[in-house]
Amino acid sequence: MATHNDDSATEVVALVHLGCARNLIDSELILARLSDEGLQLSSDPKSAGTIVLNTCSFIGPAREESEAQIRHWLKRKQQGQIERLVVAGCLVQRYQRTLERRFPEVDLFAEISDGRILARSIRRLTAGERVPRYLASTGLREAARDGTRVLSTPRSYAYLRISHGCDHECSFCAIPAIRGTHRSKRPDDLLDEARELIAAGVKELVLVAEDSTAWGRDMGLELPHLVESMAELDGDQRLRVMYAYPNRFPWDLARLMREHPKVLPYLDIPVQHIATPVLRAMRRAGSGDQVRRTLDRILLEVPGITLRSTLLLGFPGETSADVEELAAFVKTYAIGRLGAFVYSPEEGTSGFALEDNVPAEEKERRLDQVLAARDEVLSRAQQARVGTEIEIVVDALELGRDPAVVGRAAFDAPEVDLAARVPGGKAAVGERLRVRVDAVNEDLDLVCSLVPPQARPAG
Ligand code: SF4
Repeated sequence: MATHNDDSATEVVALVHLGCARNLIDSELILARLSDEGLQLSSDPKSAGTIVLNTCSFIGPAREESEAQIRHWLKRKQQGQIERLVVAGCLVQRYQRTLERRFPEVDLFAEISDGRILARSIRRLTAGERVPRYLASTGLREAARDGTRVLSTPRSYAYLRISHGCDHECSFCAIPAIRGTHRSKRPDDLLDEARELIAAGVKELVLVAEDSTAWGRDMGLELPHLVESMAELDGDQRLRVMYAYPNRFPWDLARLMREHPKVLPYLDIPVQHIATPVLRAMRRAGSGDQVRRTLDRILLEVPGITLRSTLLLGFPGETSADVEELAAFVKTYAIGRLGAFVYSPEEGTSGFALEDNVPAEEKERRLDQVLAARDEVLSRAQQARVGTEIEIVVDALELGRDPAVVGRAAFDAPEVDLAARVPGGKAAVGERLRVRVDAVNEDLDLVCSLVPPQARPAG
C-alpha cells in the first residue's frame, strides 16, 4: 500500500467510477485528460496517491453510495494511504458547494465537464501548487464531440453518447437538473467518434443519452438518420440503442432494426410504469395504452426483437391494482430484461412535494412482485434457446479452474443483461463466435459450445 511520503505514488492517479454508462464516458474522458497532463494512471487505487471519484446521484441509493465512497476515501487519506481526494460528477453538479461544507477534507470538487480543466488542476495539485478548491462547470456542457477517451470497456463494445440532457419533466427524476436540457451532438462529430472507436477495434457501439430517441430533433433530424449513417461506416460494427423514450418513437428505426445487418434487433425503452394514473402522476408522456400500442407496433415491425425496460415501483398514489397491471404487462410483453427500482423522493423534482404514501416495506414487496414476473419470463425465454445456434461477441476470457469464454448475443446488452458462456472455449475478446446453446445455468446465463466451422450454415 502506497503511503503519503512515497514520492512515486504522488503522481499516480486512479479513478473510481460510479453510476451509469453515460457517466462512464465522463470517467473515460477524465482519464484521457489526466493522461494528456502527463499523470500516471493506475486501475488499482491502492497504488495511487490521488483518487478521483466520479459520482452518481440520480436516486437515493446512488447518492448514498457516492457519499459513502467519499467518507471511505477520506478515511484512507486520514490514514495516510492516499494523498488527496478529488470528487467529480453528478453529486457535485447536483449539490454543488453544500458538499464543500459537508466534506471539508476533500481536496478538489468538480462539476460535470469535459475534464480538461479538472485534469490540469489535478496536475497542479500533485505538483504542490494551490488551485481553486471548487471547479464550477462553465454553463451547460457543450454538445460537441467528446475528446479521446481511455476506454474502460473491453474492445467488444464501447458506449457512445449521442446527446446531453433531457427535455422531459418526469416528476421523480433529478437528471434534467443535473444534466440540463436536451442538446444533440452533431452527426459529423458522432461519425468521427464512431470511426475512431471502430478503428480501435470496438465491435459494438452502444448508443446512450438521457433520451436517445430525441436525438436530432433540435437540428431537424431524427435518430434513424444517425443510426443508418453509423451502420454504413466501414467495419464490422454493430449498433445497439439504449434509453429510448416510448413517446414519439422514430419508426424508421424499426425498419433499420429489421433490415440492416449492423443494427441489432434490440431496444432499451424505459417505460417506468404502465398504469395510466401512475404515468400521469409521474408526468410521463402517453397513457398505458399508448405505451402498449408503441410496443405492439415495435414487436410487429421487428420480428424477434428483444425489449429491455426500466420500472419504478412505489410512486405516491400507486395502488396494488396498478402493480398487478404492471406485473401482467411484464408477462404479456415478455420483458425479461428489466431493471426496477423503488421510488425515493428527490429534492428538486416536482414529485418531491407529493406525499410519499407507499410504506417502504410495501415498496419492496411490489418490487419483488414485478421482479418475480420478470424472472419467470426470462427463465422461459432462456430455456427456449436451448438447442439453438446463436452468434456471440466475446467480452472476456475467464481463466483459472473453470476457464470459459464469456460473450453476448444480440439479445443481451453489456453489463445490464445476461451472458453466453463457452466452457473451455478459446477465442479473443471482440471475436464473433457461432455457438450452440446447450443449457441455462443458475444465473440464467446460456451455457454453450462452439459450432465447428464446417458445421456452420453456408454464407
Ligand atoms: S426521460 Fe424522464 S426519467 Fe429519463 S432522464 Fe428524462 S426526465 Fe429523467
